[in-house]
Amino acid sequence: MIVIDGSQGEGGGQILRNALGLSLITGQSFRIHNIRGQRERPGLMRQHLTAIEAAMAIGGATCDGAGVGAAEITFRPGSVKGGDYRFAVGTAGSAGLVLQTLLPALMIADAPSRLVLEGGTHNPYAPPFEFLERSLLPLINRMGPRVEARLIRHGFYPRGGGSMEVDITPSPLRRLDCHDRGALGATRATALVAGLPGDIVRREIMTAREVLDWPHDCFHIERLAEERGPGNVLLLEAAFEQVTEVVSGFGRFGVSAESLAKTAASRILGYMASTAFAGPYLADQLIVPFSLAGGGSFTTVKPSNHTKSAIAIAEMFLGRQWQIEAQSDGTHLLSVK
Ligand code: ATP
Repeated sequence: MIVIDGSQGEGGGQILRNALGLSLITGQSFRIHNIRGQRERPGLMRQHLTAIEAAMAIGGATCDGAGVGAAEITFRPGSVKGGDYRFAVGTAGSAGLVLQTLLPALMIADAPSRLVLEGGTHNPYAPPFEFLERSLLPLINRMGPRVEARLIRHGFYPRGGGSMEVDITPSPLRRLDCHDRGALGATRATALVAGLPGDIVRREIMTAREVLDWPHDCFHIERLAEERGPGNVLLLEAAFEQVTEVVSGFGRFGVSAESLAKTAASRILGYMASTAFAGPYLADQLIVPFSLAGGGSFTTVKPSNHTKSAIAIAEMFLGRQWQIEAQSDGTHLLSVK
């Protein structure tokens, strides 16, 4: 039985999700205590419970102690079965983070899967749909599996009600070595809005235009049906030959459209000015797949606490060591042996 302190490192939900995925794959049971111990409201939230229930469903697993607010669970995996599954978070909790839990096991399972995931598709502090579709999944596909995601309905915090479908054709994983992102191709800025005054997105796009020296036809406003809202996100994408970075800025009370756009724009400019392959979010989401491939490497700006925590959990379940080496150009090379 692997014992995990959920307050270690980043101390959030990602430690639990990665442990669930790796437990399903390795067949090792685990007990986690101090779940989300570094968060203001620790313990399981609805979104994490859905991830546990989903892991139990695809993996014939059992779990003791799960409930809203619970600080400790014991999870015992069974055998993973690819198939058709539907999971609904029931709140605006992120559907993409449910995918983060299930994908590692399903992409190397014995049969294909189709997932319908309902909840939030565009949440702060979680990968928005476009990040999954354009940044993470193309790399997973290069490792062997075929994973296609379709956005059926947008779901914003706090309303939720979004939906995505994901088709997964499993395959053994091949290692990738991702050091060079290649030449810059397209850039794109999209301001999405639902059920909020239209001048918010006009101001976001105007500010992004001022900061980013991108051609005029890169900037887009997308108005969604009123009832999908309220919701607003600015998505900034830079597609290089080998990798696409998607930076998101979520509208919220107390933050002006201008300041949101400036922050997002300076983040994508920071990425573009470096030579790093993976941005900070992609980096932590590559740790489990690369560990499972048994080797591989990538460069990133600076390893985040999320990345270090993902490494710690992957090492516990798989026993594979990661190395982090600072490079002369300010990036870091992360490699797993
Ligand atoms: P909590 O932090 O409240 O426990 P959580 O379950 O959302 O909640 P975290 O541990 O913070 O969990 O993990 C969030 C995950 O979402 C990480 O894998 C991170 O890379 C990813 N993520 C967060 N924001 C973005 C973003 N803007 N774009 C892409 N991925 C993101």
